[in-house]
Amino acid sequence: MSLALGCFFFLTGIDVFAAKETAMSRTRPLYKLQQVDLELESVSRRLQEIDATLGESTELKRARKMAADAEAHLVKCRSEMQNLDLEVDGLSQKIETNEGRLYSGRVANPKELASLEEEAASLKRWREKKEEDLLEAMVSCEENEAALADAQAILAQVNETWRAEQGDLADEQTNLQVRLEELREGRESLIAAVGPDDVTIYERLRPRKGGRAVAAVKDGICEGCRMNPPSSQVQHARSGSELEFCNNCGRVLHVL
Ligand SMILES: [Zn+2]
Repeated sequence: MSLALGCFFFLTGIDVFAAKETAMSRTRPLYKLQQVDLELESVSRRLQEIDATLGESTELKRARKMAADAEAHLVKCRSEMQNLDLEVDGLSQKIETNEGRLYSGRVANPKELASLEEEAASLKRWREKKEEDLLEAMVSCEENEAALADAQAILAQVNETWRAEQGDLADEQTNLQVRLEELREGRESLIAAVGPDDVTIYERLRPRKGGRAVAAVKDGICEGCRMNPPSSQVQHARSGSELEFCNNCGRVLHVL
């Protein structure tokens, strides 16, 4: 963006630049520079927050894991149920074969008959046990199906909220990036307007005064420290031709 175009955005888009310049004032552009710097800090901070928030949220990851776990449980449970079902079928076939021999009349040996009867009883006890296990597995699978449905519903809801938030954040990020660019261009113009000596004073004071090197004076009160500078000093500061520093907090005084 050209400097002229940048200035256009700068002057039209930013309220702090709207006031007319006082010809001799050295503090007005300094004060505006400070406002721009404060907003730059705030916009940059918010952009960092957005950067950290964009992407999958912890809540979404948790909901997805819960749904995946529930599905895995259900798959395992169904597999166990199928195995038990096959086992019960296998046992039924064995029992049928065993009973077929037992009641066929072909086995006459009493010992062999007793052995077949014992085997039949044992197979039936075992099948009974496996049928109980199968019933338990069926109940467990039903519970797992319900748990999976719940987990999937929660995941869908969390996902929907997350998508909406991501959209809002992406919009905010775009707007803030535009604003950041405006502010940076505005800052360049202000630096030129302030002049190198005052910029040096400003930059030196800024880190020592919590980012506020310039203090507005309103109704005779320094807004940097809430003290009353002497009226003669306020008058000097009002003329804006020389920089006046608050005797108390050391900031450059800018009379509003
Ligand atoms: Zn002060």
